[in-house]
Amino acid sequence: MIDIIQLLPDSVANQIAAGEVIQRPASVVKELVENSLDAGATEIVVHVKDAGKTLVQISDNGCGMSPTDARMAFERHATSKISSANDLFCIRTMGFRGEALASIAAIADVELRTKRTEDEVGTLIRVIGSEVKAQEATACNNGTSFMIKNLFFNVPARRKFLKANSTELKNIIWEIQRIALPNPDIKISLFHNNSPLYDLPKTNHRKRIVDLFGKSLNQSLVLVDEKTSLVNIHGYIGQPKYARKTIGEQFFFVNGRFMRHPYFHKAVMQAYQQLLTPDAFPSYFLFLEIEPGDIDINVHPTKTEIKFENESSIWPIIHAAVRESLGKHNVVPSIDFDQSGSIDIPIRHKSGESVPFPQIQINKDYNPFNSGRTPDLRGSTSTKSDKRNLNRWEDLYRGTQLILKPEDQQQPIEEDASFFPSGEQFSGKKTLQLKQKYILTPVKSGLMVIDQKRAHERILFEKFMEVLRSDSVATQQQLFPQTLELNPADSSLLLSILPELTSLGFDIREFGKDTFIINGTPGVLDVSSPELIVEKLLEEYKHSPVDARSKAREQIAISLAKASALDYGTDLKPAEIDHLIDNLFACATPNFSPDGKKVLSIISLADFEKSFNK
Ligand code: ADP
Ligand code: MG
Repeated sequence: MIDIIQLLPDSVANQIAAGEVIQRPASVVKELVENSLDAGATEIVVHVKDAGKTLVQISDNGCGMSPTDARMAFERHATSKISSANDLFCIRTMGFRGEALASIAAIADVELRTKRTEDEVGTLIRVIGSEVKAQEATACNNGTSFMIKNLFFNVPARRKFLKANSTELKNIIWEIQRIALPNPDIKISLFHNNSPLYDLPKTNHRKRIVDLFGKSLNQSLVLVDEKTSLVNIHGYIGQPKYARKTIGEQFFFVNGRFMRHPYFHKAVMQAYQQLLTPDAFPSYFLFLEIEPGDIDINVHPTKTEIKFENESSIWPIIHAAVRESLGKHNVVPSIDFDQSGSIDIPIRHKSGESVPFPQIQINKDYNPFNSGRTPDLRGSTSTKSDKRNLNRWEDLYRGTQLILKPEDQQQPIEEDASFFPSGEQFSGKKTLQLKQKYILTPVKSGLMVIDQKRAHERILFEKFMEVLRSDSVATQQQLFPQTLELNPADSSLLLSILPELTSLGFDIREFGKDTFIINGTPGVLDVSSPELIVEKLLEEYKHSPVDARSKAREQIAISLAKASALDYGTDLKPAEIDHLIDNLFACATPNFSPDGKKVLSIISLADFEKSFNK
């Protein structure tokens, strides 16, 4: 039998490896800009066309390459940054694997122009699909310029996988943000289809953050600066009062490299504990400096996860540094103030008598389920079909202890209660709100628990879908149009879903660069701060599953429902609870939220019995 194992030709090996390093145009931008940083550039210009699908061009004023190095740079494992295994433990550069250029050249058409200051002429090299097509001397500026065209030309499957331009562009913007933040002393500009998205001058950390994320952040930023023998932490955190309802800008960097670190993230979040409502997110930009030998950046080719030798010792340092900064800036007046030894002062009337214990008075005749009052719950205008279902809803109380008013008893009774979970019936129209989060109501088989936010999401979602289906858009014009300033990523996302938002009833106009005016909001919503709803909507939409976006209209309706539903922590009056339940069961699918989460659950009588060992 003949041997069957063969070594793959370099071009194939490169193409396979490329898949790991280069997943999308944004990966090309990241790798090339990082190379420019490593080359000591102080100015980097990035041009992309069609979100990088047609062209990525990156020019720098770095050290440039000799003709031989320029040719070598495209070989796999060719790097000027490390030369022995030991060097792996003291990496100070962004790159070190010598994989990026070989990978990019395997799957694209690459043109490189480069010149060192000491050379008379520069070098031009063209490589297409790992094949060197040309190498010649050329007149060019000092530094290096790469032009990448036709990305994934020979990997059609991957090209097909690329997302809409708005999504790919957003990824490029994210990469630029992650590189620009820790390098404020480098001038960086980004152009898309020749129009400038960022033009970031050389500056300091604080100004760079503001240049990237908008002036409104400036007043919120508080300095963090902590030096220890293990780690130095520098950066800015947002004051709690400016925390956003959407996941704000949260960035960790270690030795100038962006990283994700859920464990350290917790250290920051815990420092904010009790200063934030559970649905608010603080911004933070923290730059850690640590001995390169204490971290392992070799975990993954795309290198955003980083292992720390002393993770558990660094955690409390981050926590304390953030806490201290919040304290120093009078954000927390008495951090961890120990009250255990304080004296209990009895409260007394001026006359010297003790204050009587507060009395609670109950109107025993009050029945929140009696008709005649329709509380104004956001987005819960009744429709014909609601009324039909409400009749059935009343029917659910049949056979319960509740005493109905005579007119209620005359309601026609339908037998079908199939919309109700497992044919459940209520044993009494009593409701209770628990922790401003759940609504409890007894049903025949036990206790029904309704998640108030998810229930409202379901109600709103069905209303939005009805608006979309019927094309009968109702817009509520704003008395005072609101201005919305977004970062370029969010701005391009908003533009891409604007038609859908219009058919839902929004009236949003573009007003200059990354600025929008909200003139009107959907009629079914009672919106007090439209700009917040739009921001939350964008955040929800960003985090929705990517494949769900093919059904864009539905996904936007889901995102809007989630963004505008009443939040946990909202106190509901009995009448509002009543109305919420009514509207929920008027829905076609009351049991699940629009993104498929459970809206209600029933704790059975048997469960109660079990808990009492009966
Ligand atoms: P790595 O960055 O891991 O070393 P790359 O494939 O990204 O690997 O780059 C290979 C080599 O090409 C680098 O080590 C560097 O010597 C050279 N190089 C790449 N880009 C530039 C640039 N913009 N300026 C100067 N040299 C560069
Ligand atoms: Mg590199």
